[in-house]
Amino acid sequence: AALPLKDPELLKQAMLIGGQWVGADDGRTIDVRNPATGALLARVPRGGAAETGRAIEAAEKAMRGWRGALARERSAVLRRLYELMLEHADDLALLITSEQGKPLAEGRGEVLYAASFIEWFAEEAKRAYGDIIPQNMHGRRILVQKAPVGVFAAITPWNFPAAMITRKAGPGWAVGCAGVIKPASQTPLTALALGVLAERAGLPAGVCNVVTGSAGEIGGALTASPVVRKLSFTGSTEIGALLLEQCAPTIKRTSMELGGNAPFIVFDDADLETAVAAAMVAKYRNSGQSCVGANRFLVQAGIYDRFAARLAGESARLRVGDGTEADVAVGPLIDDKAVRKVEEHIADAVAKGACVAAGGARHERGGLFFQPTVLTGVPRDAAIFSEETFGPVAPLFRFDTEEEAIALANDTPFGLAAYLCARDAGRIFRVTEALEFGMIGVNEGLISTEVAPFGGVKASGLGREGSRYGIEEYLETKYVALGGI
Ligand code: ADP
Repeated sequence: AALPLKDPELLKQAMLIGGQWVGADDGRTIDVRNPATGALLARVPRGGAAETGRAIEAAEKAMRGWRGALARERSAVLRRLYELMLEHADDLALLITSEQGKPLAEGRGEVLYAASFIEWFAEEAKRAYGDIIPQNMHGRRILVQKAPVGVFAAITPWNFPAAMITRKAGPGWAVGCAGVIKPASQTPLTALALGVLAERAGLPAGVCNVVTGSAGEIGGALTASPVVRKLSFTGSTEIGALLLEQCAPTIKRTSMELGGNAPFIVFDDADLETAVAAAMVAKYRNSGQSCVGANRFLVQAGIYDRFAARLAGESARLRVGDGTEADVAVGPLIDDKAVRKVEEHIADAVAKGACVAAGGARHERGGLFFQPTVLTGVPRDAAIFSEETFGPVAPLFRFDTEEEAIALANDTPFGLAAYLCARDAGRIFRVTEALEFGMIGVNEGLISTEVAPFGGVKASGLGREGSRYGIEEYLETKYVALGGI
């Protein structure tokens, strides 16, 4: 069944390499399915090392001209891309919902969020300032220039099919780099549609290449290439570590946005309404499949029962279904493996003494749908405390003191996002300073924005995306000692 796109040209079943839409050399394809229905949406090429090699060559060639353009000219092209994304927001949202499953309203939200990075970096393109440093001897001047890092590779996950691409490619294109994008095999259609819009916006052929197919082969070719100077990856810590190893021989710059295990701490002095509202969005956005999603709810004894009751009540009221249906708040999970992991985490917690306060099982619709679930009295040795569930399950742990909350929150190798709800200003400062996380939401459950630095510490990664920090990841610092003048 064809997707009802307003602009059917946005549905591409070919890779974009050097301005050409091409299939795999051997003609092989990958099926793209709708996780809500199982329906076949499209077949995209199963590219490998050879196709990736050609994309790298195309990027290298295209970059020569692109880096030489005025910042203002690159900025104007990105601005057009931003406008095209907004113009086609409905189609892009439908592509996202169809291949990824999130509710259409969230798909639309993601399109706006994704476009915001293009807008932001279109503006930042003009501000990649260097420096003039007071000279250390007479007859010399000291200049610091900023140069584009070179050809970049962007390997992106399925949970945010549009935003993870623009957050990486946006700053790269802005400063004059060309790149090769490898989207997740579950969600290539959004990436290919962005390729169509990039072309229409006027990005020269070869500046935006999109290669679909075998992750191992494409990732291997991208990391082995000495031409690729920068890898930006969002995905699991396990694959991130593997890619870092593969990048070592060619000493690439890397940005790594890896797994999280976000604590959501509710203190006794929190405003209950605010805490529950923040918890709902931090937990159930994208069916819990977000790397900054709340994974462990740490709730102080004095507010525990009230918070648990409210969260369970609101969770049970969420409408589960196909993201294209009206008022759906929670879509399907991405695949059966994801559903099984959620089941295992619940079974393990219950076996160790937790109680199910809401949900707890697959949804009656079957397929990949799961009930929004709240678990209370979860013991700290439950697997869900130490592993990212990536599903619609809120496990509630109990604590007594602030010190205990901080120790529990930091008791993980991960350090991406953390949340806390409290009103006491002293406590807010003490706790945010003690939390070993790259991003902290205080009385806020949704913290991602293009204007702020996104990224983690510890096993959650390296580097920052978005904001003025994000552009630095694509710039080299070049020092020139200018003498003889
Ligand atoms: P997720 O659990 O989100 O699928 P992964 O880390 O497995 O996380 O995948 C994130 C991205 O990394 C996807 O685009 C996937 O295709 C890609 N990927 C997976 N394995 C490899 C690999 N060996 N080399 C390069 N990329 C990979």
